[in-house]
Amino acid sequence: MAENDIITIDGPSGSGKSTISRLVAARLGFTYLDTGAMYRAVGFKARKLGIDLSDGVSLAGILENVDLVLAPGEGDTRVILDQEDISLAIRTAEMGLVASKVSAQPVVRARLTEMQRRMGRQGRVVVEGRDTGTVVFPAARHKFFLDAKPEERARRRCLQLREKGLQAEEQEILAQIIKRDQDDSGRSLAPLKPAADAVIIDTSHMNIDEVVSFMLEKVEKPGQNSQTNSQGA
Ligand code: C5P
Repeated sequence: MAENDIITIDGPSGSGKSTISRLVAARLGFTYLDTGAMYRAVGFKARKLGIDLSDGVSLAGILENVDLVLAPGEGDTRVILDQEDISLAIRTAEMGLVASKVSAQPVVRARLTEMQRRMGRQGRVVVEGRDTGTVVFPAARHKFFLDAKPEERARRRCLQLREKGLQAEEQEILAQIIKRDQDDSGRSLAPLKPAADAVIIDTSHMNIDEVVSFMLEKVEKPGQNSQTNSQGA
C-alpha cells in the first residue's frame, strides 16, 4: 500500500494531538481520522451492555457487526454508534480510562486496526492515536510524536473538558493522565511509544500555531532530519 500521503500523529493524552491533527489535516486538505474515538466508542458500548472490560470474547461480539460512523464535527469528531450520537458522552475523563482498558484487548486492537487501515487506504489522511505510526501505518512517510509534561497536559485537558461544559478537577485529571500513560505505555500490545522514524515534538512550551507550522514545514520540506526534538522543547 502506498502510504506516502498518510501522516501519523501519536502521543499521550493532552499532548495536543487532536487539535493539531485537525488543523494539519485542514491546512493540507486531508481527512482527519481520530482512532481514540473508536476505542472510546467500543468502551462506551461495553459499558452500556454491562460487559466486563477485560472479557475479550464478549468484546469480540460487540465488534462483529459494529455500526460505527465517524464524521467531521465542529470540534471533535462526531461519533455515531448504532445510530446514536455518542460524541459528547465518550469525551469524559472516565470514558478515557474505559477506552484504555478495552484497548489492551488483542481482539479489540486487531479489529480496530483493520478498520483504520481500511479508512486510511485512500490516503491523504492525518491519523491520530497511540500506535498509528508504529502498528497501523508503519510505512507512513510522515510520522510525528507529540509529548508534553503531565502537569501541562492535565491543565489543557481540564480546559477542554470545561469548555464542553463537563466537570474537571485538575489534580484528579493529572492522576488519571498518569494512570493512562502508565497503562498505555506499559501494555505489551501496541504500547504508546514513538516510531523509530518519528519526529518527536515536546509541546510543553509551544502554542498550537507553532506546532502546526513546525509540522507543516516537515511535511512540505521532507528529508531534513528525521529524528529531532522541537525547538521549543
Ligand atoms: O486519544 P484518546 O484519549 O481519545 O484515546 C483514548 C484511549 O484509547 C487511549 O488512552 C488509549 O488507551 C486508547 N487508544 C489506543 N490506540 C489508539 C488510540 C487510542 O490504544 N490508536
